[in-house]
Amino acid sequence: MNKKSRDISLARAKTLKSRIDDYLVVRDKIPCGLDCHETLEKRKAHILNVLGGSEADWNDYKWQLKHRVSDIDTLSKILQLEDDEVDAIKKVSDLYRWSISPYYLSLIDPREKFDPIKLLSVPNKLELLDEEAPLDPMGEEFTNPAGTITRRYPDRLIINVTNECAMYCRHCQRRRNIGQVDLMTAKPLLEESFAYIREHEEIRDVLVTGGDPFTLSDTQIEWILENLTSIPHVEYVRFGSRTLVTMPQRITDSLVEILKKHHPVYVNTHFNHPMEITPESKEACEKLANAGVPLGNQAVLLNGINNDKFVMRKLNHEMLKIRVRPYYIFHAKTVKGTHHLKTSLDDGLEIMEYLRGYTSGMAIPTYIVNAPGGKGKTPILPTYVINRGPKYFTIRTWEGEILKHKNEDTVPIEDLYNALD
Ligand SMILES: *Cc1c(COP(=O)(O)O)cnc(C)c1O
Repeated sequence: MNKKSRDISLARAKTLKSRIDDYLVVRDKIPCGLDCHETLEKRKAHILNVLGGSEADWNDYKWQLKHRVSDIDTLSKILQLEDDEVDAIKKVSDLYRWSISPYYLSLIDPREKFDPIKLLSVPNKLELLDEEAPLDPMGEEFTNPAGTITRRYPDRLIINVTNECAMYCRHCQRRRNIGQVDLMTAKPLLEESFAYIREHEEIRDVLVTGGDPFTLSDTQIEWILENLTSIPHVEYVRFGSRTLVTMPQRITDSLVEILKKHHPVYVNTHFNHPMEITPESKEACEKLANAGVPLGNQAVLLNGINNDKFVMRKLNHEMLKIRVRPYYIFHAKTVKGTHHLKTSLDDGLEIMEYLRGYTSGMAIPTYIVNAPGGKGKTPILPTYVINRGPKYFTIRTWEGEILKHKNEDTVPIEDLYNALD
């Protein structure tokens, strides 16, 4: 290479590096669950002490599920709650369900009032203020052709198999379904759902959701998979589960064996903050990945939790390190009791603006707004096409440079070939 080209390349490399200088300064200050081993071990010991459990109990998902904390006395022994917080939790309990696995509780800094994991899981008095919003913004009531199916698209649909979760997200869009008790969807309703799918040959992709389908027993999960994979036109099954994040102990060898027997099986999960990535959640993801289950992440953009371009960038990097491909960032919906967690669309656009170019395409999910009334997922992108004419497009690069790009007509390949004669 001649000296001039090398000098230009070196100067360009320097500029490129400077584009992420601001990120490199803050990256290591954003807490990640993989970097706090000692703290997490200490919190675990304290929680086990409060609940009277052993290390073996902790690693047993059935113990985790059974010992979800859902009473204020126990919660107060684990977190340092202020009086007004205790009061608010009591009031919220009458309206909305809450329950937190001991494992997920250990991710909260007990002294921190606005800890992101706490905002995600512990009831907050702001939930009480939200009188206006609907409980069913997606109109799921009007997209339920049979059983517990939600159908909003031509070739794929959701079946809801339980209302139970290892932790009830404070931003849950299905609050109205989770009630106060755990219910697996009744067998006849599931059978009705399977029958609908069997009768509709255009359905090639089935998402099993809830609640959280992985709170079901291995036997129940296997029964669901056997039913779905026996339908010839179902090409693969997707599970949507947050247990990888909220109760990673659930990803047992026996569950993995069951999933593996019914390939292709995909799992999409829901990490929102780097603090949720711990040695346990990493192990859960790796077990699934090793069994050939492709993993995707569906984060929700939430006020005070991840509405920050660098937190999101780091989250997506950490996802790839544990073999989870960022898939969607959902704009939070307007659901009663969750208003305080909503962000502006501008927050989402800014996050997307500072992903493309700044980081690997692999680390860039699609930002999605759900159209009102269950009209479907709608992607929102920063504008890269500034102007379009018949011959030229004016485009903007990730660094903000405005350039012209030729737009020539496509000539059918046969015409090009025949023109040679
Ligand atoms: C989100 C969703 C799907 C899956 O959508 P993809 O974009 O394929 O991931 C399917 N059905 C319903 C009702 C949904 O809400």
